[in-house]
Amino acid sequence: MNYCATHHETPATGRCLSCHKPFCEECCVATDGRSFCGSTCAARHRTFKENYSEIEIRRPFSSWLTGKIIGLGIVAAGASGAVHLAVRFGFDSLARFDWIGRLLK
Ligand SMILES: [Zn+2]
Ligand SMILES: [Zn+2]
Repeated sequence: MNYCATHHETPATGRCLSCHKPFCEECCVATDGRSFCGSTCAARHRTFKENYSEIEIRRPFSSWLTGKIIGLGIVAAGASGAVHLAVRFGFDSLARFDWIGRLLK
């Protein structure tokens, strides 16, 4: 049996969503259908949620950008690798595009 973090004699009715401390009926502060051990934690959670939703809004663009950069990197690496292999197999006309071969020299 858990006891309230503030009232050590009172059995806890729930656990704070913010600091994970057990709290009793008397301490419980409910916001957005979520229960907290006090108004401090409820307020902290609200700020956290606001910050989080800002991140959520910004994230799609940055992940799109990261995806593009990684995609381009893979394409560039693949193309460079193909050119390098072609030069190694005798396609000397491609030698000036073969920066991998130049790096390895
Ligand atoms: Zn708390
Ligand atoms: Zn309490």
